[in-house]
Amino acid sequence: MPQYPNYFDGWQDREIACDSCEWRGTGSGTAMGEVFRDLYERDCPQCGSRLLVVSFPTPEEIRAAAAESNPEALSMLKSLEKREARWDRWEVERLARVEQLPDLDDAIITAWMTIGRDIDDPQSDTQLKLWLNNQQVHSEPGFFESIEPLKRIVPLLRTKYGERFKSIDISNATTYLYGDRFSLVDEGTAFLRESGLCE
Ligand SMILES: [Zn+2]
Repeated sequence: MPQYPNYFDGWQDREIACDSCEWRGTGSGTAMGEVFRDLYERDCPQCGSRLLVVSFPTPEEIRAAAAESNPEALSMLKSLEKREARWDRWEVERLARVEQLPDLDDAIITAWMTIGRDIDDPQSDTQLKLWLNNQQVHSEPGFFESIEPLKRIVPLLRTKYGERFKSIDISNATTYLYGDRFSLVDEGTAFLRESGLCE
């Protein structure tokens, strides 16, 4: 049976024995196994049996270990804080209200969603941008493999512009919005079809 150590509890230095063969060694002597979203496995280097299942640390665990000066936790804390700052910025900057959209006189409104960094701000992270009839009207922090922006923004466009809003082209954003997840491609395509929009 595999053990389930906590990420920061020093399992790398612990003595481990394989039940399936005679291998013995330290945790760091085990081999990297499969990696999943929330955890990874460490296997017996000799017979491949699963010996350890290690969950990636939660934000609380990172903070606690960083407070005890764990070097890996300190470096993880940096990216955690960066990610949290990005979420905070998204809360403030995201397109959430119809009033944020400009008044447009055009008879037909075509939307584009694109992904990119702000050219005038080299420090900026990836931004999701909305264009209406060739004019950029919005920019907010983008998140990989999420079609949440599509589902949030399309109804706002419909409310604001009614039937004048005819189509949305997301082809320059799909590698980011969908990533490698085919289920998102299906979900996004179905959502656009249900919204009466061509891509
Ligand atoms: Zn073994």
